[in-house]
Amino acid sequence: MCKLVPSSMAVSLQTKYSLSSTTDNIPRSHRPSLLRVRVTCSVTNTTTNSNPHREKLVVGKHLVNPPLSNDPTLQSTWTHRFWVAAGCTSVFVSFAKSIKGGFGSHLWLEPALSGFAGYILADLGSGVYHWAIDNYGDESTPLLGNQIEAAQGHHKWPWIITIRQFANNSHALARGIALTVLPLVLAFNDPVVHGFVSTFAFCVLFCQQFHAWAHGSKSKLTRLVVALQDMGILLSRTQHVNHHRPPCNSYCIVSGAWNKVLDESKFFEALEKVLYFQFGNFYLSE
Ligand SMILES: [Zn+2]
Ligand SMILES: [Zn+2]
Repeated sequence: MCKLVPSSMAVSLQTKYSLSSTTDNIPRSHRPSLLRVRVTCSVTNTTTNSNPHREKLVVGKHLVNPPLSNDPTLQSTWTHRFWVAAGCTSVFVSFAKSIKGGFGSHLWLEPALSGFAGYILADLGSGVYHWAIDNYGDESTPLLGNQIEAAQGHHKWPWIITIRQFANNSHALARGIALTVLPLVLAFNDPVVHGFVSTFAFCVLFCQQFHAWAHGSKSKLTRLVVALQDMGILLSRTQHVNHHRPPCNSYCIVSGAWNKVLDESKFFEALEKVLYFQFGNFYLSE
């Protein structure tokens, strides 16, 4: 979500990879070639901004000012709570099937290993999803528009996530989990399958909470959360700082275990190039 917006002109201009040979030594987010030279019609003037690389020139109408702590958009509604409850229930039933199936078949190692695989792959999945909504689409995108808008707002006012209520922050992922896991619960009884499904789904459902904790100050977090962060079991505060600094990689938000390898291999830059050459800038976020 690091955007380069070089000026405010009444034209729309997008170039992407054509300048890459001249800008290889420039950090990614400052690089006009790689992602984001976008000169957009706007009344906003960013030329005096002290940190223009972190600022979007044009933002959605809901992102002009940061919401206040008592803003209704940060509060949980009963609909949010319903989806979180449905998601948690589906995860719990899947986990119970894994345990029950393990008891019945005396299988322990396989469900445990598949659960560990679910935890590891959930971190990767969180990174891919986070990268996608940070960089593509806008608030009008079908199904994901609200999440894309929230992701854009998060990069403009990162601290807001610490005052957003839990169900408000997690309900969209919980809804996706409920709608995905419930059919799997009905379709399968295999403890190995449910070892993976329950752990993966649990980590995805709660990854926004892990993300919020990574923005919390140590003094305000519980000792358990701080300990899990320090052990690398949950996304650490020090690691997530990298996502909010150029070049704004480190997208994974469960444990962060994949961030180093994805950043060093430039996985997402490669993926962006593939998508660019396949589709152009059509889906690129502003
Ligand atoms: Zn982000
Ligand atoms: Zn963040």
